[in-house]
Amino acid sequence: MLRRAFSVLSDLIASVAGLTFPQHCIFCGELAGTLVCDACADKLTPVQQPICPRCGKPLKTGVARSECLHCSGHKWYVDIARALFVYEGQGREALHQFKYGRRRGLARFFGRELARGAGDLNRLGALFNWEFGEEPELAVPLPLHWWKSFLRQFNQSELMLKFYAPALGLPVSTGVLARGRNTRSQVGLTEPQRFANVRNAFRVPSRARKRVSGKRILLLDDLVTTGATLNAAARALKRAGARKVYALSFFTATLK
Ligand SMILES: [Zn+2]
Ligand SMILES: [Zn+2]
Repeated sequence: MLRRAFSVLSDLIASVAGLTFPQHCIFCGELAGTLVCDACADKLTPVQQPICPRCGKPLKTGVARSECLHCSGHKWYVDIARALFVYEGQGREALHQFKYGRRRGLARFFGRELARGAGDLNRLGALFNWEFGEEPELAVPLPLHWWKSFLRQFNQSELMLKFYAPALGLPVSTGVLARGRNTRSQVGLTEPQRFANVRNAFRVPSRARKRVSGKRILLLDDLVTTGATLNAAARALKRAGARKVYALSFFTATLK
């Protein structure tokens, strides 16, 4: 109990002060610089080809030439989406502890893995395949609804980005997307219901339009399932004049 309290306290101090000091890996208990040691971090499952060229989801078979079945039924506002890891196993557990166990210190681990997987704009460009000169100019974390961030006291995507954006050299803008309508939970909804449920969930406040207009934006999210939420956020950004919206997620859930 005492050790757990100490570890939560040291997470907090480390994340506030931006410091690294030895911590025990949440999986194997080894002493490491972050809450997940290198050996356990290597157990994350990378997304591998073939993937859908638009949403970035791994495809079961074949070579990806055109968009997958999940993508073809909707109007897409995200230009290209990619995810680094498959949502399963220990990675899934780590995200769970981060979000619901409020292990804020795990942000450093997620940020480090993003930097290892796509640590600069060239490597990110190889992943996204954007055209020359079309790289993003601004990074935006996907906002939570206010009551969720109130309950959790932090936005996981924003914290991940804090540790990742310096590697990309991109400025981060947190106030450009607001979560408007209180949407019901997406859990248990069918795919078309999910898209309809969140369609109007985001807006760009008028004071932020200038920061978005004409820009190429990288949206960051922790986990993508159908892509409905990212798409709704991209819709709001495009309506405010954004030129391109790329979406990067740490995890992708595989769909049936
Ligand atoms: Zn470990
Ligand atoms: Zn797709």
